[in-house]
This record gives sequence, C-alpha cells and structure tokens, in this order.
Amino acid sequence: PEAITVQELANRMAEKGADLVKAMFKMGMAVTVNQTIDQDTAELLVTDFGHNVRRVSDADVELELDTTEDNEADLKPRAPVVTIMGHVDHGKTSLLDALRGTDVTAGEAGGITQHIGAYQVTLKDKSQITFLDTPGHEAFSDMRARGANVTDIVVLVVAADDGLMPQTIEAIHHTKAAGVPMIVAINKCDKPEANPQKIRERLLEHEVIVEEMSGDVQDVEVSALKKTGLDDLTDKIQLQAELLELKANPGRAAEGAVVEAKLDKGRGPVATILVRRGTLKVGDIFVVGAESGKVRAMIDDKGKQVKKAGPSTPVEVLGLSGVPMAGDQLQVVDTETKAREIAEYRQSVMQQKRTTQAPASLESMFSALK
Ligand code: GDP
Ligand code: MG
Repeated sequence: PEAITVQELANRMAEKGADLVKAMFKMGMAVTVNQTIDQDTAELLVTDFGHNVRRVSDADVELELDTTEDNEADLKPRAPVVTIMGHVDHGKTSLLDALRGTDVTAGEAGGITQHIGAYQVTLKDKSQITFLDTPGHEAFSDMRARGANVTDIVVLVVAADDGLMPQTIEAIHHTKAAGVPMIVAINKCDKPEANPQKIRERLLEHEVIVEEMSGDVQDVEVSALKKTGLDDLTDKIQLQAELLELKANPGRAAEGAVVEAKLDKGRGPVATILVRRGTLKVGDIFVVGAESGKVRAMIDDKGKQVKKAGPSTPVEVLGLSGVPMAGDQLQVVDTETKAREIAEYRQSVMQQKRTTQAPASLESMFSALK
C-alpha cells in the first residue's frame, strides 16, 4: 500500500492540510502536514471528510491570508483609480485615448501603448492617475459583484449634443449605489449644437447637482476630439482625489484585483493586476481567485518589463496556473503550498456551486430551445 503525505492527501481532496491535521488530532493522531500516513488512515480521513460534508468556510481560508490593517504611519499617498462611464457613443473611448495622450512620460524610452485593461498617466507635476480602460457600467458592476471595489472616482461622460440617455442614468445609479464620487465630463463641446447648460439642468432631475448649479459635483466641459478641457478634467480628478486622502502601505505583501485576464498563445495565462496595497514583485508567490502562481514577469501599460509594482499601478502578470476572472483578488503568500492549497479549495467550492446550479442552467437551456 502506498504512503501519502497529509498535504498530498489534502490536495487530492481539495481540502486544507491544516484541516486534515485538525481532524487527525481529534482522532488522537498528532501529525504535521509533511508527515506520511498509511492507507488506512488516509481512507479514514477521506470518509470522515466525505461523510460529514463539512465545509471549511471562506472565512477560515481567508484567515490564512494576511489581511491585517495597516498602521497609519505606513500609509503613503497613492494615485486615484478612475472609471469612465456613460452612454454609448458619448465618447468614453475617445476620452480615454485623449487622456492617455496627456501622459508626459508617453513616448519616453520608446514605450508602445499596451492595452492591458488599465493605464496610468503621469501629469506635469509628476502626480499620477490610473484609468480603467474598460469603460461602461457592466465592467464596473461585474468587478463590484466579485468584491473588487477598485474605482475611487467615476467620470460620467455626457455628450452635450445628445443629453441624458438610458445608460447615462444607469451609470448614475451604479455610481451612487457604490458610493463613489462622480465628476461629470460634458463632452463634444466642440459641436455647434452642444448645449452644456441643458445637461446640467437635466442632471438635477437625477439628483446630480453640479457646482454651477450650487451643488458639490464637479463638472467640466471637454472635447475628446479637439482635446480641450483635458487639463481641467485631470485637475478636478486630482482635487477629488485629495479630498479622498487616498493612501496605501507600499511596504507589505501585495494585494490587488484582476482587471482582465486571458490565455495568451505564447505566454500562457496572463492577468492585469491593479495593485491595491503592498508592492508586487517578480518572484512573489500568490493566490488569485481559484488560481495560484509565481510572478515570472511583469509588463506595464507602456510595454516595459518591470520588477515591481506599487499601489494603484496596473501590471500584466505572467506565471499563473490558469486564467482568473475579472474582479478576483490577488494576494501574495509565503509558500507555493499555501497558494496551491487555497486555490484548490476555492476551485472545489466553485465546482460544488456549479454542480448545484447545473439543473437551473439546464432548464434555461431547454426553455431557450423551445
Ligand atoms: P463610446 O461609445 O462612448 O466609447 O464613444 P466613442 O469614443 O467611440 O465616440 C463615439 C463617436 O463620437 C465617434 O465617432 C467619435 O469620433 C465621436 N466623438 C467622441 N468625442 C467627441 C468630441 O469631443 N467631439 C466630437 N465632435 N465628436 C466626438
Ligand atoms: Mg467605446
């Protein structure tokens, strides 16, 4: 009969090694995760776990992660993270492109713009703003649904020649629900038929009271096409960011969120991580959603290889076991065993959810066929 270590058995059962140790302790056996056990004991454990269907709660797993709060003294200012929302064709993509062009470091060292789902601009005063490159409230709510509240500020784009449209109003609702401050960018002001004042008045109906109407929501007239009002917009973002006093501790194990992820033909699973706190470094071992890995390389939004990434920095990370989902959290842990253990546990939970949800989706498949 083959012998197996407690950890190997735990991995196969998609359980935590520590829980097997605990269970064995209850059976009167004191072992460590690295110790081998005989087949009888292994079978005993399998039935014990299988029959009781006792699930470790997510909270228990998270306990193994260092989620401690940081000391005030360790906090350093960090760049604001901005999401652009608004109705289709009101100029979200154009504005993102125009803002990207305001980066004073753009073109430096032959950097080529990489679309990695987020980018950072450095302003004339050297301060930075991070923009999420996936506009729209779907991405925003998807991320939030997965627990990633990465956005500090929403820029609501409204075309001055079109007015408030259904997706504008939806974006207002999402932003309010998230409790994220908003800045209104009235776009297409270069158009002769543009009527910014009408937009301000219509916004009142949705309880968005801009400064010009004696409210506290900042608004700015821009033209993404003519690139006017952009400095004004970045000034207002900075002002809003100052009010929020955004800070993070760069000197701890990194935590971040997946902005986007894909399977790259040549490079394998790749994820853009927006670092929330700590500094992510090449060689770091991590768990991200139900995947784990070790940072093999990191590439920034200018296509440059970087060795580390601090708070509010988006980087493409290579070295993942699989493709995580947008909004998944990344956490750096000390050992590969721990990373794998947590990832496998999460995979088993997902598997279980999928199994229990299967009848419902089958039903909907059949009704869709009718
Ligand atoms: P999105 O759907 O919100 O991403 O909107 P796009 O950025 O794709 O813009 C939709 C259309 O509006 C495109 O044809 C743009 O060229 C045009 N557009 C965007 N911004 C401006 C602007 O400031 N002025 C004018 N005149 N046209 C604009
Ligand atoms: Mg677009």
